[in-house]
Parts: sequence; C-alpha cells; structure tokens
Amino acid sequence: MSKIKLGIVGYGNLGKGAIEAIKQTQDMELVAVFTRRDPQHLHLDDQNVKVAHISEASDYKNDIDVMLLCGGSATDLPEQTPYFASMFNTVDSFDTHAKIPEFYKSVNEVATKNNTTAIISVGWDPGLFSINRVMADAIIPNGENYTFWGKGLSQGHSDAVRRVTGVKNGVQYTIPSEDAIENVRSGENPELSTAEKHNRVCYVVAEEGADQAAIEHEIKTMPNYFAEYNTEVNFISEEELKRDHSKAPHGGFVIRGGNTGAGHKQIYEFSLKLDSNPEFTSSVLVAYARAAYRLNNEKQFGAKTVYDVAPGYISPRSPEELRRDYL
Ligand code: NDP
Repeated sequence: MSKIKLGIVGYGNLGKGAIEAIKQTQDMELVAVFTRRDPQHLHLDDQNVKVAHISEASDYKNDIDVMLLCGGSATDLPEQTPYFASMFNTVDSFDTHAKIPEFYKSVNEVATKNNTTAIISVGWDPGLFSINRVMADAIIPNGENYTFWGKGLSQGHSDAVRRVTGVKNGVQYTIPSEDAIENVRSGENPELSTAEKHNRVCYVVAEEGADQAAIEHEIKTMPNYFAEYNTEVNFISEEELKRDHSKAPHGGFVIRGGNTGAGHKQIYEFSLKLDSNPEFTSSVLVAYARAAYRLNNEKQFGAKTVYDVAPGYISPRSPEELRRDYL
C-alpha cells in the first residue's frame, strides 16, 4: 500500500511535533518541511528530514498529498492557509475562536475553486473539545456546557510576568479551580465567570536584590491578566525553573450537566491531561491528514471543520476492523 505523503509548513513547536507524530504512523510519510527561514541555517533535531524554502513548495504539487500547516494563528495562518489550499489539501490548527467564521470563508472560497480539501481549526481546542461540546449539547439539550483549561502553561501570561520590574525569568500556569469543577460535576449548573473557573500560579526567578513583595504585588494587581483571578506567586531559582518548568503541559475539561426525561441528572465529561501541548496538537493534525486525503479522493472539496469529519476518516484502521474491534 502506498503511503500518504505529507509536507509540513513551519518549523516551530507544532512543526517539530508533527515530524515525530508522522514517525509513529505506518501509513504516512514526510516528504519535506518548508520554512520562511534560510533552510541552510535551520538546525533540525532530525538531520534526515528534508528542508526547503517555503517559496519552493509549489514545485511539490505532485509529490505531496496533504500539507500540515504549523504556523501561528495570529498572523501566519490567515495568509498561509488560503495560499496553500490553492495548491494542496491542508490541515491547520487556527485557534483564534472569534475569527473562525471569516477564516473558514476565505479558505472555503479558495479550496472549492481549486478542488482541494482544507480541514481548519484542528487540535484539542478548537478540535477535540469542540466535538465534545457539540455532542454533549445535542444529546442533553436541557443543560449547560462548561470548558475548563489547564493545568497549562500560558505563553501570554508568562510573558506578562517576565515584563515585571525585578523579574529575571518566570512562567505562569492556568489551573482549573477544583471547587468550580466539583460544583459543575454535581450537576448544579452554576453561573461561573472565567476567573471563577481558573486560578493562576506563577513561578518567578527574581533578579538579585529585587524586592519580592513588590514583584508579587505588581503581578497580583495586574489588570486583565491577574487582578480578577486568585493568583499565587512562588519564587524559585533559575535552576529550579529549568528543571521543573521547561515542558509545555496543558489540557482541561469539557463538562455538560443537564437533565433528561423525568429530571434525571446526566453529566457528560471529556478531559485531556497533556505533558506536551504542541506534540499532542500536532498528533491530532497528523491523524486529520488522513481525513483530508480521503475526503479529497471522494471529491469532497472546500473547507471543513472537525464537525464535518466522521471519526472513521481519521483512523488508520479499516471500517471492518473498526466495526469488529472498536464499536
Ligand atoms: P511557534 O511560535 O513555535 O511557531 C510558529 C511559526 O514561527 C513556525 O511555523 C515557524 O515558521 C516560526 N518560528 C518558530 N520558531 C522560530 C524561531 N526560533 N525563529 C524564527 N521563526 C520561528 O508556534 P507553535 O508551533 O507553538 O504553535 C502554532 C500555533 O498552533 C499557535 O499559534 C496556536 O494558535 C496553534 N495551536 C492550536 C491548538 C489547538 O488546539 N487548536 C493548540 C496549540 C497551538 P518558519 O519555519 O516558517 O519560520
């Protein structure tokens, strides 16, 4: 059986994770990684991987079945997805939730015109969490959806901590509030703000001689980032930061509590606990590359989201095997 041929656009956290995820499949292979940087000077962890400049990607139209788009959501993907969808089937992880409708529209236009299949906003949120929000809502109409994120390292909040005077280095974790989760699991369907659902925990390396009390105060009172939250600040050494906080964990919960029939309480819960957010996210992208390939073979062109893709399409197993072993 010939393998599905993949390309990767962008060598960041997701791009690196995608290289590893492809290695764990039997039915897919990596053709090349495309980057905006000088390929000669890009130091790859795996020296066997072929790297090319992004401007050469169009030469690979006949050699790549699906492009995994691993650029950032803020500025890369709004340009890169429509551009690549004009030539290739694509999968991306666009996660600016508020802009998904306009992103879908621009990608759909290009993909439909060029007979390609572009699966957008794939990952865990948006992605697997979205699927579970929809499932729970359809099955228990009389209820309430809750999404909790964490324990997770937040890049934006870590940057904010590092900008505080006297801070040498630091990270911030978003942690779901146990009380709030228990409250939701009990089926009370409470009204909770984002701040009530999450706590913030910071690990800070202070500069020598810096006033720790002043740092803690400035972090805890920072508007928009920490002031509205229950925030904890811990001071640690540079060595401890490197040893204990250099991974990128994440995860969270989608919970729906509701009632059916004669008022029976029903709780739907889906959770993820991830050691590495980018490695997991790129593993989801790789699985959905199968779907992009298969949908395109069936002439299902245009932009798709995870809602449009049946689970069997992402599996390496045959429909017979799935019916026998997984139903
Ligand atoms: P990175 O910042 O690591 O990489 C983004 C791009 O920046 C790369 O494609 C690369 O492009 C460029 N880049 C990376 N490192 C460097 C560097 N050292 N110097 C110069 N350029 C660099 O982002 P991530 O891979 O961590 O995440 C990508 C996106 O994935 C995020 O923006 C986020 O929106 C999304 N995401 C979605 C999730 C979901 O569940 N849907 C979950 C997690 C993330 P190039 O090689 O062309 O220079």
